[in-house]
Amino acid sequence: MIASSPDWFIILGSGTGIVTPRRAAPAVLIGSEKFLVLVDCGPGCLLRLSQTGLDVTKIAAVLFSHFHVDHCADLAPLLFARRVPELPRAEQPLVLAGLGMTNHYAALQGLHGQWVEPLEGPPTLIELQEACFDFGPWQIEWTRTTHTPSSVAYRFETSSGHSLVISGDTGPSIALEQLARDVDTLVLECAFPDPSPYPTHLSPTTAGELATAAGCKRLVLTHFYPRIESSDILQGINKSYRGPVILAEDLLTLGW
Ligand SMILES: [Zn+2]
Ligand SMILES: [Zn+2]
Repeated sequence: MIASSPDWFIILGSGTGIVTPRRAAPAVLIGSEKFLVLVDCGPGCLLRLSQTGLDVTKIAAVLFSHFHVDHCADLAPLLFARRVPELPRAEQPLVLAGLGMTNHYAALQGLHGQWVEPLEGPPTLIELQEACFDFGPWQIEWTRTTHTPSSVAYRFETSSGHSLVISGDTGPSIALEQLARDVDTLVLECAFPDPSPYPTHLSPTTAGELATAAGCKRLVLTHFYPRIESSDILQGINKSYRGPVILAEDLLTLGW
């Protein structure tokens, strides 16, 4: 029997571009002992991070699924906070990764100059050229999703074989089905109620179909626009998917 993984994740933001008291915009904090990374950094997630008792200097990296404002707007405040002398100086430069990361950070520097340059030094920028790379305690694999030309999903894998996929934003996607094949936990966007109004987002029915095709062992749904809240999400999911399903709330904390 495989020992349970010590690795965990916290949904910092289970919402969208419409931030509500219940739901900050997308961000997932992923941890392994002392190594912490964020996937996305949407507005409101720094407030949620503070509610976990952690501060921004503990974050080793931010991996972006894409650069829509609801997924990246707290990056400038995060960088600014790492300049504040009241916080301990981070031990390593922050790693920032995503397709288009170099342009995005250059634009922030154009706007804010030195105020987005942390005390520990300039961020290390990664443009995701390799499909698979080692990062901290994990192997990370990524693939493009059907949302924007540069949107991606990430798969994290531990050396003991535990796995986690964060979809970012996506519509139905064979590439994402393959990335999430047999994964322990699939954190999947489910933005709108059925029938899905946009091909670039999922609804319960299409999210269930994707999870079923991937064969994920557990499904965590997130990225809820307000109008999906009053619909029966599980009814759409259960048309096809038979595994355990969790509807995310902010600060939901799970092991892999
Ligand atoms: Zn988006
Ligand atoms: Zn989004």
